[in-house]
Amino acid sequence: MRFILIPLPPHLPSRWHRVYVGRLASVSGLGAHDLRSAYIKKNGSWGLLKKWLANTSGYKCWYCEAKSTRAPFDVDHFRPKLGITVDGVKLAGHDGYYWLAYEWCNFRLSCQRCNRPEKDDGDVLHGKANEFPIRDEAKRCTLPADLLGAESPRLLDPCVQADCELLAHGLDGEVKPVAPDGSWEYQRARYTIDRLGFNEWNTPEDKRGRWQTLATLLAVVGDTSNPAVISEINKHLSHDHEYASFFRSAIGTHRDKAWVEALL
Ligand SMILES: [Zn+2]
Repeated sequence: MRFILIPLPPHLPSRWHRVYVGRLASVSGLGAHDLRSAYIKKNGSWGLLKKWLANTSGYKCWYCEAKSTRAPFDVDHFRPKLGITVDGVKLAGHDGYYWLAYEWCNFRLSCQRCNRPEKDDGDVLHGKANEFPIRDEAKRCTLPADLLGAESPRLLDPCVQADCELLAHGLDGEVKPVAPDGSWEYQRARYTIDRLGFNEWNTPEDKRGRWQTLATLLAVVGDTSNPAVISEINKHLSHDHEYASFFRSAIGTHRDKAWVEALL
């Protein structure tokens, strides 16, 4: 997970503002959940922002940094728009954050692995879907006027730099919590890694395989830099490279070489 910074004001597609104003007015005018739900399901206009969202991350999933070359990305609503589950159980009495259904700051570009529910070979369910646990349910926002800042989400948010720093990347290709076991920060990282399946679907094996190629190059050139190898390392460090956070961490294990240190 790499920090996503959207400079303000955001340069949204020109068409968006008109669509947004219309959708927001319609949702605000619908008093019953069933009507709102039907309207929002029918009007998934956030798809208009998919390209804009993809540009901010170099066409990578904001959560896992995968490039989705053979399946389209989803526009995930960080706070679910039509209902909430906590550890798989529907949260009674909450209709979801319907008032954020068309707010760009609630959108996260997500690969289908991170966003959609699917069981792994061990029958464990992964994928964010409508999951949105918070630390203290008493602070859960239920109305547009409530303060979202009072909630402490368990899921790490790629739009919060401090959240991204709670994840470490091992040479084994696995994502791990940084904070000590038992802390809230550890729980958040563990939950995010497991729920979104960062270490599932052969992802660590894929990362390890690619790192082996780089590690071999590093071993061959040793302490003497080489323009072709520098170019290859820089490519893996680039923000738009798939799993750049992992590669930055892996390349960082070669900081003893001055030329590598200079690249980081
Ligand atoms: Zn993903």
